[in-house]
Amino acid sequence: MMEEDLNNICEECKKEEESVTHNLIKHGYKVCESCRVSKTIFPI
Ligand SMILES: [Zn+2]
Repeated sequence: MMEEDLNNICEECKKEEESVTHNLIKHGYKVCESCRVSKTIFPI
């Protein structure tokens, strides 16, 4: 993992959210909670 990945910046909306790191660890997606929910409902 690169150092720049160790932040809380969502890859989808580029917003800083504490949930980004949680979602990266739990789900493997570096996204915030709201982007994760929309990914779950509307998978690409
Ligand atoms: Zn987001």
